[in-house]
Amino acid sequence: MYDVMVVGAGPAGCTAAKTLAEKGKKILLLEKFKMPRYKSCSGVLIRKSMDLVKTYFGEAVPASALCTSTQNRGMVFTDDKGKEYRFEQEGLNVWRSHFDGWLAGKAKESGAEVKDGTAVVSCTEKDGFVEASLGGEGTDTVRAGYVIDCEGVVGTLKRRIFRQTSSASEPGYITTYQTFNEGSIDLDPHYFYAYLQPALSQYDAWFNVKDDLLVLGVSVKDREQIAHYYRRFLAYMKENHRLRIDRQTKEDKWLMPQIIPGCLVDYGVGRILFAGEVAGFLNPMGEGISAGMESGYHAACAVMENFGQPESVRETYRKRTEELQAYMQRQWSLVGGMAATFAKMA
Ligand SMILES: Cc1cc2nc3c(=O)[nH]c(=O)nc-3n(C[C@H](O)[C@H](O)[C@H](O)COP(=O)(O)OP(=O)(O)OC[C@H]3O[C@@H](n4cnc5c(N)ncnc54)[C@H](O)[C@@H]3O)c2cc1C
Repeated sequence: MYDVMVVGAGPAGCTAAKTLAEKGKKILLLEKFKMPRYKSCSGVLIRKSMDLVKTYFGEAVPASALCTSTQNRGMVFTDDKGKEYRFEQEGLNVWRSHFDGWLAGKAKESGAEVKDGTAVVSCTEKDGFVEASLGGEGTDTVRAGYVIDCEGVVGTLKRRIFRQTSSASEPGYITTYQTFNEGSIDLDPHYFYAYLQPALSQYDAWFNVKDDLLVLGVSVKDREQIAHYYRRFLAYMKENHRLRIDRQTKEDKWLMPQIIPGCLVDYGVGRILFAGEVAGFLNPMGEGISAGMESGYHAACAVMENFGQPESVRETYRKRTEELQAYMQRQWSLVGGMAATFAKMA
């Protein structure tokens, strides 16, 4: 019997587990993959993420998590009419496998039991606790006073939980596709570039650099259209930025929640809270690491403050994340103002 079981060792889960463990709670952090696991991500830590790492983990991001160009100096957005907006800000460029592995290590140092290679298959609320069944070797069940589900975008567990109770708001998904390439381009590797022209993607297209590899990506609502938009984006980058690809070394596909105006959040049900992307915490500028850490922290504090009063936990959590939600909505307005495609997503 644990005080709290945390599902998923991403930024949200590691922050929740660390916060509760250092306050003396008996914590189990479960991750379905062996750590360090791969996570498709541009790996840009904005200033806010760097500050949250210091606040919640007591240290700066270690050099071992960084890739070149190690410093990110901001984002450059091109709107749907081809106008450029520069957002200059100090940031970092990380590999998510190393960064998240470090966060999980910090949760462990604080006293959380970390079990990787183990998926949580289902969670059922019983009288005064939650029972979870685990996949992998030996099908175990685990009991905990509360569960904080930080499983990330797909939300398989969340859907199962809601099927047992009420119905969740089903988010639409965006598919992201990116390739890693050897080659050259005339853009500054210290910036993240996003392109919002509807001819290049159904959401955004992007360019950034990781360990000297040129990363080119497009996101689409219709998966069948990936090749079409990717081809167009490459042609655009060749024409406008002298892109030359010598060799593609890797590609990956992932999902992102489709962010809608209002930035809806599912806080949880009963003794089960949702945090991070599975709850809907994602900055519309494509930045979800800070939103994950911040919501994971507040979910943990809400549990801590109301341990004996489960009926108050969700309301405390909602109140604690009001400012984060307002921040997401401000970002939504900013991006929505740059491209008509975003405004139409309502
Ligand atoms: C292409 C792309 C680029 C991005 N670029 C950036 C960026 O530059 N900067 C930024 O801040 N954000 C970026 N994001 C968003 C960011 O990656 C996410 O918002 C962030 O990782 C969400 O954190 P999380 O902790 O909620 O979930 P995740 O990081 O997804 O972690 C969830 C964890 O839960 C585990 N899990 C899932 N199901 C189970 C289960 N049943 N049992 C046990 N474990 C389970 C998963 O394996 C995973 O390790 C990007 C996203 C994409 C797709």
